[in-house]
Amino acid sequence: MRHVELTIRGTVQGVGFRPFVYRLARELMLRGWVRNSGRGVIVRLFGAEDSVERFVRAVPQEKPEAARIDEIALSELPHEHYDEFTILHSSESAETFTQVSPDLAMCRDCARELHEISDRRFAYPFTNCTQCGPRFSIIKDVPYDRPMTTMSEFAMCAECAAEYDSPVDRRFHAQPVACSKCGPTLEWLTNSGGEWSAQCHRIEAIHAAARELKQGKIVLIQGIGGFHLACDARNEAAVCELRRRKGRDRKPFAVMFADRRQLRSWCSVGLRELEAIGSPAAPIVLLKKSPACEAAHSVAPETPTLGAMLSYSPLHSLLLEECGFPLVMTSANRSEEPIQYRREDALDAMKEIADFALVHDREIEMFADDSIVRVIGKQSRIIRRSRGFVPTAISLREQFAKSILSFGADLKNTFCIAKEQSAILSQHLGDMEGERAIAQQQRALAHFLKLYHVKVEAVACDLHPDYSSTRLAEEFAESHAIPLVHVQHHHAHLAACLAETQRDEAVLGLCLDGTGYGTDGTIWGGELLYGDFRSFRRLGHLQSVPLLGNDRVAREPWRMALAWLDKSLDLRSNAPRIPLLAMIRKEFGEGAISALLTARLKANYPLTSAAGRLFDAVAALLFFGTRRQFEGEAAMHLEHQTSPYMQPAYDMSLEKEDDAWVLSPVPMIRELVRELEDGVSKPVIARRFLEGFAEGLVNLCSRAAGEMGSQTVALSGGCFQNAILHERVTALLTERGFEVLAHQIVPSNDGGIALGQACIANAQLRGR
Ligand code: ZN
Ligand code: ZN
Ligand code: FE
Repeated sequence: MRHVELTIRGTVQGVGFRPFVYRLARELMLRGWVRNSGRGVIVRLFGAEDSVERFVRAVPQEKPEAARIDEIALSELPHEHYDEFTILHSSESAETFTQVSPDLAMCRDCARELHEISDRRFAYPFTNCTQCGPRFSIIKDVPYDRPMTTMSEFAMCAECAAEYDSPVDRRFHAQPVACSKCGPTLEWLTNSGGEWSAQCHRIEAIHAAARELKQGKIVLIQGIGGFHLACDARNEAAVCELRRRKGRDRKPFAVMFADRRQLRSWCSVGLRELEAIGSPAAPIVLLKKSPACEAAHSVAPETPTLGAMLSYSPLHSLLLEECGFPLVMTSANRSEEPIQYRREDALDAMKEIADFALVHDREIEMFADDSIVRVIGKQSRIIRRSRGFVPTAISLREQFAKSILSFGADLKNTFCIAKEQSAILSQHLGDMEGERAIAQQQRALAHFLKLYHVKVEAVACDLHPDYSSTRLAEEFAESHAIPLVHVQHHHAHLAACLAETQRDEAVLGLCLDGTGYGTDGTIWGGELLYGDFRSFRRLGHLQSVPLLGNDRVAREPWRMALAWLDKSLDLRSNAPRIPLLAMIRKEFGEGAISALLTARLKANYPLTSAAGRLFDAVAALLFFGTRRQFEGEAAMHLEHQTSPYMQPAYDMSLEKEDDAWVLSPVPMIRELVRELEDGVSKPVIARRFLEGFAEGLVNLCSRAAGEMGSQTVALSGGCFQNAILHERVTALLTERGFEVLAHQIVPSNDGGIALGQACIANAQLRGR
């Protein structure tokens, strides 16, 4: 006989883990108990030696689909007698930090029941169990129990209650458990001149929605973490109309598919991609369109990729199956505004956009956009971390002495709450521009502080004096009379990568993005740093040029092209014969170029070393001309238009100025312009540019590594979402014997900044 205690860490709460342990222990005739704790799930087992061993082997093999096991620790205990195996109620104390599970896509068992005519949940759009269903989006407060969720209004019927109370049932303590007798119901609303009126309910509502979608109508749909606008993804007229009403130009729409078969008919899907898209988080995955893709042109214009997801709730499944074609699913908001998630607000805000609405009475307490994942370098990497991932805690190597709240940066904002050895990153909050965005951030922040009962002891934010996030952090610190740490943007990127990869030593950090406030008041973004959580040094950077037009450059990439042309060539006496310059003259007048480049004006613009701005310049030179872009479009377009075949690299120069290495693209720009004049194919030029840039960066790393004696490079910043750049830099670094650290579960873009800020604040406050 043997008596042991297992501590199982990972995503093991709110995913049906305790009932699974209960069934397994009973099967193996083991006695003891299981309970949730702040450290994970604790299991005490007493029984035959080989039964205990079989149990330990079976846990990782047979665990519930949505569970993720990071670690199982086993300790032997003196013999003790138990009458049976039981599920103990969790002690409420220190647990609140790990208790909330993310929203999980419908599991296989629930999908089977949904389609079984004899099942009592046949075609019930709100079915769920311990392995699946809404969590984060319906929780009002902890402990996670039905009265604390938006399901509190629905009294369970006798059958549901029996399932809820039975430890052997798949719905044991599944808080949102419901059926058509006792649970939420669907409603179909028509919109006549801004007035919504209910037409039908339940399955009739799905029939009506499918019918109208087939007719090319735009339907508002209440989902898990918010409202979507949907239309037939094959119908060009419908998609164009949706773009027009939403005020969204070319930014791609995501598409939802009924199942894997339908997905495969439109997209080519690799193994890793299939894993990601079919995971319980059910994110949008960026896939290559297949030649047979029937998506209307305007779904994702001018890009070979499609943001695809599988129907992740029973409601979506029923609707997509009934339709028989994929649906555009875009968050219900006007362009650039936060997602709508309250029923009344959504109906009101969308009354000029949606023709119909498919809604229900299970309220969404907290919003969460669809997450976005991309496979880069054979790994799936989270680009937008929201529904399905949030609020899973990120384990930290460091022990935090104080509870820290960090406010992130202004683009792709998230905040982070960190204490002890965990960090909770908020859902994607979007760009912190305008009152609505800030109000949405404040709601989310208040919710997280309540949920996790955290008494914040210190605050961190970006160094940028004009960021809204900085201002919010300053107000928070002042009103709570707690310390505030300002963190340099790229130092935070580097720290986020260290934290995610569970490292804490000083490493080289290659941080490439579009913008970040530097310690010298210029705008950084092509940085090679060396540092750990405590401090950093700027070892090298991309050469700086004036940001011709300040914030306007983000939408008008031709301005950066002009800045780089001016740096590299003599534009006055010997301007190259390239289309872009002709377009600028034609559109803005003969004098526009010399006006922008007068010494006085140039001196008024801040300098930037941002890699993202160099990408903008090259995209404008090759493809964009004077066209305006949505944020990140130039980079996306550049990548998609780049030849997939290796080409000889352009040269960059590397020189030491003062204390730092300066990597200059000037030789590269000159060669690029010459080849453009010679009519070399643009995808080839783009490839030579990317190869040259990757080589230049790696040369910079090599030089600096020699001085610092570090052979580890952390890659961070939004530019690493460019798969070719990511893969080439990684390959070249690896060839030269470097160890490469890169993001997977935290976005490399500014969505991950808050994590880095928290770790730096922790280290610096400890040092004081
Ligand atoms: Zn389920
Ligand atoms: Zn029921
Ligand atoms: Fe950044």
